[in-house]
Amino acid sequence: MDYRVLLYYNYTKIEDPEVFAKEHLAFCQDLGIKGRVLVAPEGINGTLSGTKEATDRYMEVMLADDRFKDTYFKMDESEGHAFKKLFVRPRTELVALHLEEDVDPRQLTGNYLEPHAFREALLDEDTVVIDARNDYEYDLGHFRGAIRPEIHNFRELPTWIRENKEQFMDKKIVTYCTGGIRCEKFSGWLLREGFDDVAQLHGGIAAYGKDETTRGELWDGKMYVFDERISVEINQVDKQVIGKEWFDGTPCERYINCSNPECNRQILVSEKNEEKYLGACSIACAKKINNRYVKKHHLTVEERNERLSLIGK
Ligand SMILES: [Zn+2]
Repeated sequence: MDYRVLLYYNYTKIEDPEVFAKEHLAFCQDLGIKGRVLVAPEGINGTLSGTKEATDRYMEVMLADDRFKDTYFKMDESEGHAFKKLFVRPRTELVALHLEEDVDPRQLTGNYLEPHAFREALLDEDTVVIDARNDYEYDLGHFRGAIRPEIHNFRELPTWIRENKEQFMDKKIVTYCTGGIRCEKFSGWLLREGFDDVAQLHGGIAAYGKDETTRGELWDGKMYVFDERISVEINQVDKQVIGKEWFDGTPCERYINCSNPECNRQILVSEKNEEKYLGACSIACAKKINNRYVKKHHLTVEERNERLSLIGK
């Protein structure tokens, strides 16, 4: 375990994101760091991997910068890089809510709940806990009893809340997401919408899983992450598998992308069914001539046809 994966964000003013991104890219390259950093006028968001020395140096330099001095870095140990490449990109906003009128979390955001207080909120009947992530993230793992908004993308969340308002109007609302960045904005937006008791899990699920008082309790399944690991463990107390296999519904936590490049759908699939369905989500996708599984496993035409003929039997 000589490597680390860092996850962080900071809503802070960055004057010229384009210039900053260029310089930051060179800085990361020098350190041999990989991953993805987004830079916007409203702040910075990064998920990176590198050696212990490189990530130490990275955090040291960031924390010495006035704009980033209060950044909270979440850290995972790792056996190697969690990313293949490095991207540092200027953006117009850090998280895309596509609001007509943006929310500035430095001005308006929900109360921060530390993990132990969040755990109490999970058990409180007068509190609704809303998962602010996408449906496929929820399906792999979530807090016990949390609400799953029917959205494929974060920007659809405000509309979904408006349509389901009655469910939450008289309750305390607590939101959570992977590292906390989406909730900073989302909880501020909820306050502006007229919900008056709104809180957010400080540091997100990542911090909750590391916290000594909670040790991930009341989290079921695994947490989806946006790097090559795909998912990480959170609950160290009473873990349950909740992911369901795409084809047969058995417990499963193994994500693959459908092998049809035009589909690419993310599905939970057992090794057995991956082999059977040629890594695809459907028979139609399995039959596609440019199927990635066929290429990767160097299947001959005969082998491919034989597998296809077995599907459904
Ligand atoms: Zn497919």
